[in-house]
Amino acid sequence: MTRQAPLIAELVNLATARWRGGASVRPPTGEDLVTAFAAQLGKPTLRSVPDAGPRLAELAAELRRALLADRPADQAAHINAMIRRYGAQPYLVEDVGQPFHLHFHGSGGTQVEALGGEFATALALIVDGYGPDRFGACEAHQCEAVYIDLTRNGSRRYCSAACTARAKTAAYRSRRHP
Ligand SMILES: [Zn+2]
Repeated sequence: MTRQAPLIAELVNLATARWRGGASVRPPTGEDLVTAFAAQLGKPTLRSVPDAGPRLAELAAELRRALLADRPADQAAHINAMIRRYGAQPYLVEDVGQPFHLHFHGSGGTQVEALGGEFATALALIVDGYGPDRFGACEAHQCEAVYIDLTRNGSRRYCSAACTARAKTAAYRSRRHP
């Protein structure tokens, strides 16, 4: 399920971050959000879901609340609420060229609810396998992106290699010119 982690962060960042990597961005809404995320997901059919834009935006907001909850108990409550709401059901799927693997599609009907079930379950499995403190907001200047940290030591603080480099440069400059 950890293969979902980059997609979860990408949906949250697309739909909710007003600053990314030091630049001001206007989060896409409606059709624009659907088109952008369908491309990330590699599923153009997402665009045929009725009201996919507002549904995706709502899912992104719920995911952001779960990722950035202050206390583990709140985080668990947010994730559990999403699992219930999207009716995540485990079942084994055999895709072409792949062995059977476990999916947790939501049972709400549209592809957005299916994603909600997958993503909520992925967060639950990450908490279960890695602990409650593997989610965060980028600490670089002018960035509101979230990240999911699946590294061995869990020391991630930035959303991307670009923000890590920006933060290092800023720290170096402030040491030289305090
Ligand atoms: Zn960042």
